[in-house]
Amino acid sequence: MGSAADFPKIDFTSNFQNIINNALSSTPETRQAVDPSTEELLYHVPLSKQADVDKAVSVAKAAFPAWKALSYDERAGYLGRYADAIEANVSGLQELLMKEAGKPVSNAAGELQFAIAHVRETAKLRIEDDLIEDTEERRATVRYLPMGVGVGIIPWNYPVLLGLGKLGPAVLAGNTFIWKPSPFSPYTALKLGEIAAQIFPPGIVQVLSGDESLGPLFTAHPDVAKISFTGSSATGKKVMQACASTLKRLTLELGGNDASIIYDDVDVAQVVQKIGPMAFMHSGQICMDIKRLYVHEKIYDEFLAAFVQVVKSFKVGGGGDPEAFLGPVQNRMQFEKVKDLYSEIGKQKWQVATGGEPVACDGKKGFFLPPTIIDNPPDDSRIVVEEPFGPIMPVLKWSDEDEVVRRANNTNMGLGASVWSNDIEKAERLARRLEAGSTWVNSHFELSPYVPFGGHKWSGVGMDWGIVGLKGWCNTQASWVRKKF
Ligand code: NAD
Repeated sequence: MGSAADFPKIDFTSNFQNIINNALSSTPETRQAVDPSTEELLYHVPLSKQADVDKAVSVAKAAFPAWKALSYDERAGYLGRYADAIEANVSGLQELLMKEAGKPVSNAAGELQFAIAHVRETAKLRIEDDLIEDTEERRATVRYLPMGVGVGIIPWNYPVLLGLGKLGPAVLAGNTFIWKPSPFSPYTALKLGEIAAQIFPPGIVQVLSGDESLGPLFTAHPDVAKISFTGSSATGKKVMQACASTLKRLTLELGGNDASIIYDDVDVAQVVQKIGPMAFMHSGQICMDIKRLYVHEKIYDEFLAAFVQVVKSFKVGGGGDPEAFLGPVQNRMQFEKVKDLYSEIGKQKWQVATGGEPVACDGKKGFFLPPTIIDNPPDDSRIVVEEPFGPIMPVLKWSDEDEVVRRANNTNMGLGASVWSNDIEKAERLARRLEAGSTWVNSHFELSPYVPFGGHKWSGVGMDWGIVGLKGWCNTQASWVRKKF
């Protein structure tokens, strides 16, 4: 592993510019994002336009032939050195991530560590040709070939992990990659681009920042071969529509409304300690946070009381508060959306187990909301039907297996789902009936660079990560050889 001294120093407090052709590239106009903990404006970043996109795409296209001609081992070598260089800069990146995403230190550190490990482990993946038939007459092989220029469109909640989680497989498979961060969190991406410029040949990894008009410039561009998008289901549909005109390949990682089903045989005290962070981590702003918690009626009251105690123990605070577990909502738009959901509490007379509508705090800065649990609301209420993407969630009562499966599946979302029981076989049987891209028994947060992640139904198309994700960055080719005329 490299130490900080092995790599040129990166300045994490100024000079945020696009990375095009391994050079810093400015734009005539700039914009600023907001620190969600303080509402202060952060550093200026480029406001990229069509000319910047055209330049980056043409550079990426020109770099593709030589990059794809390298072996997997050679490309993996670059990724390994990139992981080392990121690690050498981890403290600067962590500070920046805390500021741009409103992350408490534990969350920012965790994201960076997982993301670095992800790059290192992804570099070990290999796709082999599939030999389907090999007779005296003929041979049929299936091969997986890189596509060309890939673009990763990234949301604001996990700006480092979700960006690197696309970059690694894209370039390992032999594609060139352009990273488009969210306008709400562009800072770490630009610096990760600056680090990449020290490692990769020109045009392999580029980063462009802009406002909400930038994504559509990439989805419309004729020389972009593949879009890998992570974000909301609503935007995912627009991306799919836009990609249709040039028949781009695409992967969509979209929203979730994950159900978690708790049987009556669990150790309540143990399980609430696990479920608490899996439901409220990053203030509910994770696609795979538990968002609907179905608890068996026999233990419902005991479970709810214990769960409330766990959630009450979570300290809410800004990036600068080392004891905080939950930070603010990441941006004003999301804050207003989630506040609207909180305002339903009084209107719909939901029972509040802890938290509740935020009290107006004149002059207090930051998009903070109280962690809130709604006690057994009706199945058709907004808090059950919608993805809140904030620190508010329902706990619901169940008694019959068929009924709880029907309720858990009664949604357009299908990202993740979990079942908790001491009877593993029973739990696995139930988990197999859940319509989701990932199912877990006695967990909700197992992830690995070797295991694909993605959603069913409106939670996504295709998968990222693992061999499945790597093949998602490739065109499949059927290769026939006739040995005898
Ligand atoms: P979003 O859909 O608003 O934005 C995501 C990205 O798309 C941003 O970079 C944005 O600038 C860009 N964008 C916006 N309009 C575009 C368009 N028309 N064409 C191309 N790009 C466009 O999502 P968000 O609010 O940033 O993120 C929150 C959502 O992301 C939640 O629904 C969450 O569940 C989902 N998410 C999913 C996963 C997953 O892996 N499935 C992971 C994290 C977040």
